[in-house]
Amino acid sequence: PRTSLTLLGTGAMGTALARAWLAAGHEVTVWNRTPARAQALAAEGAVVAPSAAEAVATNRLVIVCLLDDASVGDALDGAGLAGRDLVNLTTGTPGEGRTRAAWAEARGARFLDGGIMAVPPMIGVADSGGYVFYSGSPELFEEHRDTLAIPAGTRYVGADPGFAALHDVALLSAMSGMFAGLTHAFALIRPEDISPKDFAPLLADWLTAMAPAVHQTADQLESGDYTRNVVSNLAMQAAGNATLLRTAEEQRVSPELLTPYMELMERRLAQGHGDEDGTGMVELLDLRAD
Ligand code: NDP
Repeated sequence: PRTSLTLLGTGAMGTALARAWLAAGHEVTVWNRTPARAQALAAEGAVVAPSAAEAVATNRLVIVCLLDDASVGDALDGAGLAGRDLVNLTTGTPGEGRTRAAWAEARGARFLDGGIMAVPPMIGVADSGGYVFYSGSPELFEEHRDTLAIPAGTRYVGADPGFAALHDVALLSAMSGMFAGLTHAFALIRPEDISPKDFAPLLADWLTAMAPAVHQTADQLESGDYTRNVVSNLAMQAAGNATLLRTAEEQRVSPELLTPYMELMERRLAQGHGDEDGTGMVELLDLRAD
């Protein structure tokens, strides 16, 4: 069934979302702080509202995709939210998701937070692998799930409105470490030594081959036994670190992206856990004990 919805924010991501809903035949009312940035969508069939408040007044289902949580507050300031189903696809922290949920509910709206695991070219493309984490009102999610599934896949991860952001940011944080590693690797090879184009497929395959190690970590965390099925023990890994550092020195590459992780390994080793693999370091990062 075709529905009508409002979308606040026609930046790169908002525009991609709007196009997906328009292509599926939905009536889309859009608003953007800088109106010129919404004009291309008008030509494609969207209605451009003159203010966020008017856009919110047009439809029960209101999707927000703005820069950050502060811009969500700015845009919705003064809009009548009573009876609205607010879906916030703006990237934020778990705490911001929870606070925004309480804020929306106090104004009479149901609230769902979303974390988009896709880049704009993946939006509205079948089988792109992109999806959105959702958490918050289960009733809102159930009622609008078909509409929400049009731009990208949906993964509902619980009623706690902070959980979508927690999943999203945890994955982004892992990606950050991966990018740190590959930045170091590309610095190390030196284009005059090894062609980056020859190296890239080797790097992609290696990262893919190593990725399933996450299941071992999860298994150890859930069992509480960090010495279970150890493949590469910490004592051996720490010895290997010295080779990584000497190679960086030989190639005259800064080790700054590697050393924080290596220092954490040394701390765990100093506690006498050389027979584990990396899982014990998860505990070392926990600041609640301090
Ligand atoms: P853009 O920078 O392209 O767009 C930002 C949008 O926020 C614009 O509509 C901008 O309006 C608006 N905005 C910024 N500040 C304010 C404010 N104070 N009041 C009102 N509106 C404001 O970003 P994207 O569209 O790429 O990203 C939007 C969200 O989607 C972000 O939270 C991002 O993390 C998330 N996301 C983006 C991905 C991507 O690859 N692009 C991937 C996954 C998530 P104006 O045009 O007037 O400046």
